[in-house]
Amino acid sequence: MVASKYSIDEENKSIWVYLEHEAGIFENVSLELLGKGRELANQLGWSLTGLLLGREVFELAKSAFTYGADEVWLADHPLLEYFTIDAYAPLAYQALIQGKPGVFLLGATPNGRDLAGSLAVRLRTGLNADCTGLKLSMPDGVLVSEVSGFGGGILALIEMRTHRPQMATVRPGVFAPLEPDYRRQGRIVHIPIDLSPGFIQTRIIERVIGKGVDLTHNPVIVAGGRGMEGNFQILQELAGLLGGEIGATRPPVDDGFIDRERQIGQTGVVCSPKLALCCGISGAFHFLVGIEKATTVIAINSDPEAPIFEASDYCVIGDISQILPHLIETIRETQKDSQALKI
Ligand SMILES: Cc1cc2nc3c(=O)[nH]c(=O)nc-3n(C[C@H](O)[C@H](O)[C@H](O)COP(=O)(O)OP(=O)(O)OC[C@H]3O[C@@H](n4cnc5c(N)ncnc54)[C@H](O)[C@@H]3O)c2cc1C
Repeated sequence: MVASKYSIDEENKSIWVYLEHEAGIFENVSLELLGKGRELANQLGWSLTGLLLGREVFELAKSAFTYGADEVWLADHPLLEYFTIDAYAPLAYQALIQGKPGVFLLGATPNGRDLAGSLAVRLRTGLNADCTGLKLSMPDGVLVSEVSGFGGGILALIEMRTHRPQMATVRPGVFAPLEPDYRRQGRIVHIPIDLSPGFIQTRIIERVIGKGVDLTHNPVIVAGGRGMEGNFQILQELAGLLGGEIGATRPPVDDGFIDRERQIGQTGVVCSPKLALCCGISGAFHFLVGIEKATTVIAINSDPEAPIFEASDYCVIGDISQILPHLIETIRETQKDSQALKI
């Protein structure tokens, strides 16, 4: 087995989190990882460090302290304004080799995944990708990453005992950020930067920021499955009345009835709504991992044996084409009555 670039004996007792940002705002997943990183660091008696690369990001570094970081390693340079693997990977590598953290966490976002893969190869270490949970195996303090995998109903618990850093990318929405504590302060470490334009092979021709929805933090999700037979309009109406967003299982996404960004589950997003209303969904494991953090699950399905009912708080057995119009009408009437009462 190839040895990692630094060993367990050389590791520093610190957890590092890659701080991803866009337009001066941290990606939620970075704050979520600071929250989880703080919890793990406290358990181990280690420190928590944010790794921040960008342009004019000094103020962001300070805000990382309020969300739990003890220290931020910072590279601030005009050529770091936008993420390019050519500039970000060598700088992050240089910082990691110097800081030698025991654990390094990144969000499983497109850029986080890109950077994580490149760094794992450079560091000759392993990478637990797309994790849906992190914990420590005590008393030795090894990181245990939860990954649902091998295309089926297993949850793999993966430990990295010999290589450092223990790297993992984590799905957005899995953890909660800490409440910001504005009294917290920390130390900034400046990473030496040796960059020139010729170094960057990537040419950015146009940047298009998707207007996409973020289902991870929506309080109400109205999700539809194959049983909806493509009728997502009625779910949109229902979601509108409940102040929520629509989501879906994989089949309607594959059939082109709804955008892929709305797919919930193992290969979609993990949500933690207060209410998940599941319509015409059988309840496959791959879908259920996406709603297991929901406070209340209501399922409507014509099959009384559907597995979704085992994961639901309220079970409605019946045909959605008959139940949904009544439900919408009832909610409308109730909302009208409560408006009238207010007047
Ligand atoms: C590697 C891998 C990754 C995957 N990732 C995901 C993922 O991220 N998300 C995901 O969702 N799936 C994923 N899948 C697919 C997953 O295994 C299931 O096939 C999928 O979740 C089933 O979707 P469904 O419940 O909509 O469809 P079905 O299993 O076909 O269920 C449809 C349900 O609708 C009910 N129904 C039909 N008509 C009506 C009606 N008129 N009224 C009421 N109920 C009705 C039926 O009784 C049935 O229970 C993945 C699969 C693999 C192999």
